[in-house]
Amino acid sequence: MQSLRDVISNAASRGSVIWHFNFSELTALKAAARVARELRVPIIMGLSEGEREFVGLRTAVALIKQYRAEGVPIYLNADHTKSFDGIKAAVDAGFDAVIYDGAHASMRDNIRETVRAVSYARMVDPRIIVEGELGYIGAQSEVLEKVPDGLEKTTVADAITFVKETGVDMLAPSVGNMHGMVRGGKEPALDIKLIRAIQKEVKIPLVLHGASGNSDADIRAAITAGITVIHINTEIRTAWREKLESSLRDMPREVAPYKLLSAGEGALYEAIQEKIQRY
Ligand SMILES: [Zn+2]
Repeated sequence: MQSLRDVISNAASRGSVIWHFNFSELTALKAAARVARELRVPIIMGLSEGEREFVGLRTAVALIKQYRAEGVPIYLNADHTKSFDGIKAAVDAGFDAVIYDGAHASMRDNIRETVRAVSYARMVDPRIIVEGELGYIGAQSEVLEKVPDGLEKTTVADAITFVKETGVDMLAPSVGNMHGMVRGGKEPALDIKLIRAIQKEVKIPLVLHGASGNSDADIRAAITAGITVIHINTEIRTAWREKLESSLRDMPREVAPYKLLSAGEGALYEAIQEKIQRY
């Protein structure tokens, strides 16, 4: 089985995209693994800090490794990690990738802490992918009433400095994207020109967070402009919740969890499969 580093560099050189979804319980992981197995496409599964605490780091690593042992190309990412201790714990547990998220901090602090993350990961296992974040894109993966305040686009100059000084493997810039999705489809457009300009200068794979709610045309253009990994969370969570609610309504006396949860798993499977097949 290829390492995630090989998977990403192959995708970047072909101009194709790798999808990233989050999970916090077994059905999302099962659904994604089924898609990865059936379509023979690699998928990255992410755990936020909250999701990591809920699932358990070593439990998550064991699950992912078991799928890989069965030939399923599925990889584990420590999504939006806000502290060095969090990075260290994920690296020590055996994650394939970590994100140090210093987008909330000053450029100088972001660079300093990202350098610590890169150095530690390299020391433990040089195959681990380290992603850096530059520019605030909001924090909540949920349906929002309006665009979050304080969104700030990454400049090309900052991206160059950040990548050069940190040595990250991938960069997540702020290019009109935002976490969560705005009710009624009022999502800002992606800045395709900016993506292309950053990619041209930094020459490492770029990651698009918060792609829920972005238009089809924007996502396609972003991939062409140099996005290699796309994170989708809110759309998938919303599909899961709707199906779960309807199965609770349809089976009012059912108490077997797996019977109630399988509808949600089906919704996740369909949503993930649809995303991957469309692009
Ligand atoms: Zn994100």
